[in-house]
Amino acid sequence: MPTKPDAGRETGYAENYDHDNVFAKILRGEIPCNKVYEDDYALAFHDINPQAPVHVLVIPKGHYTSFDDFSNWADEAEMTGFFQAAGHVAREVLGLADKGYRILANHGVEGGQEVPHFHLHIFGGKQLGSMLAK
Ligand code: AMP
Repeated sequence: MPTKPDAGRETGYAENYDHDNVFAKILRGEIPCNKVYEDDYALAFHDINPQAPVHVLVIPKGHYTSFDDFSNWADEAEMTGFFQAAGHVAREVLGLADKGYRILANHGVEGGQEVPHFHLHIFGGKQLGSMLAK
């Protein structure tokens, strides 16, 4: 198990987390989303600008800026709950497991992350082609 660089930090909240980001507002119910699933650990909703016939975002309930932040600071229950929810959404809610789908998480500038709250993209509903744009 790697050592956390900032021992003593509370889990659940990134120190530099932007509480005004659009997904924080969705979690607080301040702006609507097209929800497909919710539990104690995750919320899943349709992407507002879909890049595939199925394009759903899964976000943790905790305030984590990106995958880097989540993988470093989320506790075991948060990680387990979040990834179980994402699998459930792809499999049972969206019915994508048989034909296949892609999950993707962008982190930081070179990763192309736009919204600073950790999210998984789930893409499906067609042959998705090569992994990265040429
Ligand atoms: P990323 O580039 O990985 O940060 O992706 C952010 C995603 O959030 C993009 O695919 C956007 O289309 C999507 N998005 C932004 N605002 C909303 C919103 N209000 N509801 C649903 N999806 C959104």
